[in-house]
Amino acid sequence: MKYVLVIGDGIADEPVDALGGKTPLAALDCPNINRLAGGRLGMCQTVPHGVTAGSDTAILSIFGYDPRTCYTGRSALEAAGMGVMLNPGETSLRVNLCALEGDSFDTAKILSHNGGSIEGEEAVELMEDLVRDPRFASLAAAVGFTIHITPTFRHTGVIDAAHEPDRSRMHFTEPHNILGSDIAGYMPTGEMGAEITALMRASFEVLRDHPVNVRRKAEGKLPANCIWPWGPGSAMSLASFDSLYHKKGSAVSAVPLVWGIAGLCGVDTPRVEGATAELDTNYEGKVQAVLDALAGGADFCCVHVEAPDECAHAGDIEGKCEAIRRLDSRVVGPLLDQLGAVDPDFRILILSDHPTLLNTRGHDGNPVPFAIYDSREPGEPRKFDEAHARATGDFLAEGPMLLRALFA
Ligand SMILES: [Zn+2]
Repeated sequence: MKYVLVIGDGIADEPVDALGGKTPLAALDCPNINRLAGGRLGMCQTVPHGVTAGSDTAILSIFGYDPRTCYTGRSALEAAGMGVMLNPGETSLRVNLCALEGDSFDTAKILSHNGGSIEGEEAVELMEDLVRDPRFASLAAAVGFTIHITPTFRHTGVIDAAHEPDRSRMHFTEPHNILGSDIAGYMPTGEMGAEITALMRASFEVLRDHPVNVRRKAEGKLPANCIWPWGPGSAMSLASFDSLYHKKGSAVSAVPLVWGIAGLCGVDTPRVEGATAELDTNYEGKVQAVLDALAGGADFCCVHVEAPDECAHAGDIEGKCEAIRRLDSRVVGPLLDQLGAVDPDFRILILSDHPTLLNTRGHDGNPVPFAIYDSREPGEPRKFDEAHARATGDFLAEGPMLLRALFA
């Protein structure tokens, strides 16, 4: 028996006026996902009450861990996913490259939490020039802060143990939750708040008129002109996936967060060329990586698709819908067609980690629809959406019940 977990990041939603008062899942025709719903269909409270909803807390919970006890901050997971293992006393921060509008830092608005989806050499050039800038470098050195750069908008900052702040007294705003707002009310506060605000201000001064951003604007793209640190974390350890489930696992994703959760619990993370976390990701490559992992001895493989969440954060209704269509036709459909060649007996669990709301462009902690398909008892296809999942009355009160149900 082989097991696949499909996480459509943020596919669940609330009704949207532009979709005729329907959620994206309700409005779209997804025949392959509907086949999965022919098995078990219900709702799950993936994010425990009182915990901030995000892919970090939700996916930890889906994998079987209680974020109320194990979670030490999103950036610690992402750091692990980038191969940055924190030492005791070190503090990690997620560092986004974001897009601010305006000439002055004090009156700027945040337009994008991902610098207009900046990636590749442009992202690296901006960040390398930033950390080399003497004024930025001296402010960073004063708080023992270094940045590990990636060719994306996601970077990892580490504050060394000698400058260890009281993380419980550091307060940050998640940039994806305040898109379109004046940033002035959302600066870091509490411990190191002033120092980190100074780093953000200095980054804007270095990056605002950087040639890369001048070129991006000329091409009609958003500039990536300010760093936005958030999500402080410290070293985290997780019980192994194998010790929880006696299964050998693999996880296919394009984002460091998932690599980090998987890496910390001993699950393989094969990397897929062209997997971007955006709408244009390499869906076929990700499906092949799942098939390869399972054929190569894994019992379980997670495939995570980030694009619906990113599109929802961007307020891009058609983009979110297209991301769900592609999840259906280019991930779920091929899995249903091809898994049988690896093992005729397989199960697929599909769900949204958490809802991401087009109406607010932010995360939500309400229950999500899930479905479990079993190749031996496929059942009649059913509509997979929030209302139909709710109507079955099948409710899992916490995320760790999901994989137990998949493996039962
Ligand atoms: Zn998100």
